[in-house]
Amino acid sequence: MQFPTTPSRDNYDVVIIGGATSGSSIAWHLVNDKSFSGSVLVIERDPSLQFSATQASNNCMRQQFATKINVEIAQYAAEFVKNFGLEFGDDPCVPTPPIRDFGYLYLSDSKNFTEVLREDQKLQSSLGAGTQILSADEVKKDLDSASLNTKDEGCFNAMGMVNWMRMSAVKAGVDYINNEVIEIMTNGDKTEDIKLLSGDRISVKNVVNAAGTRAAQVAKMAGIKNLPIEARRRYTYIFSVDETIPQDLPLTIDPTGVHIRSYGPKDYLVGCPPIGPDIAVDVDDFSFAENAWEEKILPIITRRIPQFNTARITNAWMGHYEFNTFDHNAVIGPHSVMKNFYFCVGFSGHGSQQAPACGRAVAELIVHGAFKSLDLSTLSYSRIPEGRPLVERAVI
Ligand SMILES: Cc1cc2nc3c(=O)[nH]c(=O)nc-3n(C[C@H](O)[C@H](O)[C@H](O)COP(=O)(O)OP(=O)(O)OC[C@H]3O[C@@H](n4cnc5c(N)ncnc54)[C@H](O)[C@@H]3O)c2cc1C
Repeated sequence: MQFPTTPSRDNYDVVIIGGATSGSSIAWHLVNDKSFSGSVLVIERDPSLQFSATQASNNCMRQQFATKINVEIAQYAAEFVKNFGLEFGDDPCVPTPPIRDFGYLYLSDSKNFTEVLREDQKLQSSLGAGTQILSADEVKKDLDSASLNTKDEGCFNAMGMVNWMRMSAVKAGVDYINNEVIEIMTNGDKTEDIKLLSGDRISVKNVVNAAGTRAAQVAKMAGIKNLPIEARRRYTYIFSVDETIPQDLPLTIDPTGVHIRSYGPKDYLVGCPPIGPDIAVDVDDFSFAENAWEEKILPIITRRIPQFNTARITNAWMGHYEFNTFDHNAVIGPHSVMKNFYFCVGFSGHGSQQAPACGRAVAELIVHGAFKSLDLSTLSYSRIPEGRPLVERAVI
């Protein structure tokens, strides 16, 4: 999408820094709130989103989380993705089908991890998710058990959703510009102005940090030090094979962290964390530092599914998680002191599916001063300075 570089006004009710999935969801939910009639500016330094986490996403959604709030967030994601197709019927941007619900299949190779899966399954089904535990006999090979949910879980067209939210927001009057925020001016407990790379200066009533892997950099501009978010490498490969397996492969998570799913009719998507230590990398470093395909992925996928020995890579990318080192969970809502500076950051690998609920939550806080639909206060910024982590252990 082409955007102008200059904003149409010199003051806005809401300025959103970052126009990928989080920023666009906030903008969309703002303009779709009947109580909101303010002005919105979304500033995106790279409208192609080429280097965003959003573009690198494997586009999966799941309800198999270990914290209640993440299951509830996932349930709104499924509802949102299914409903926008209905609401906007023949809009060419609307992806079909909304969710390819082949599910996630978590494999366990130990009694301990089976116990974790059982505990998580109890929580998930108490909230209405369809997770089932499969026994060692059902999963065979060297495994102890697995968990699977095929209700509203699988993959979806995450980029389709972003493009559609952006287009709808622009149609509804949101200004999107191709520019970069380089300075944030504060006055005591308020954010007052922002400065752009082009030299433009804008007065703001509310600012949202939706800057992905650059979230800590943007927070620092506002004097907020040590936001615990850093870029972490994640590899994805698409490969085709001579002989496919006869049914859709759920997003299957091997105990080593390698995860694989059906992609097209004759190809598969596989991803993994680094082989070496999972450490912070420069936000602009998109190099393949390791040969993850040969050294990590190939031995595992061919052991699990022998006919994958004909695998040929057709595409590959290395993207960055915007990893929250504090507790691997999103940070949503205002700063504890600077109340007009909001966060929508730190998704640690599940931000494509969390964008609908988290964007809605930030929009509600701005418009109503409170959560109206789903209370995300457990994800508030204040838990960081107060040292109250909400650890999500189901991180891939
Ligand atoms: C390999 C990989 C696979 C993944 N798979 C999944 C998955 O299957 N399911 C899932 O739910 N999630 C997945 N994720 C995570 C998900 O992609 C991210 O959590 C999500 O896209 C984060 O979106 P965002 O909008 O918050 O951040 P981003 O997509 O990073 O967007 C932030 C935007 O802010 C802009 N920006 C930054 N600083 C400035 C500035 N100063 N001025 C202007 N603009 C600025 C950037 O250009 C960028 O476009 C995956 C991530 C990776 C890397």
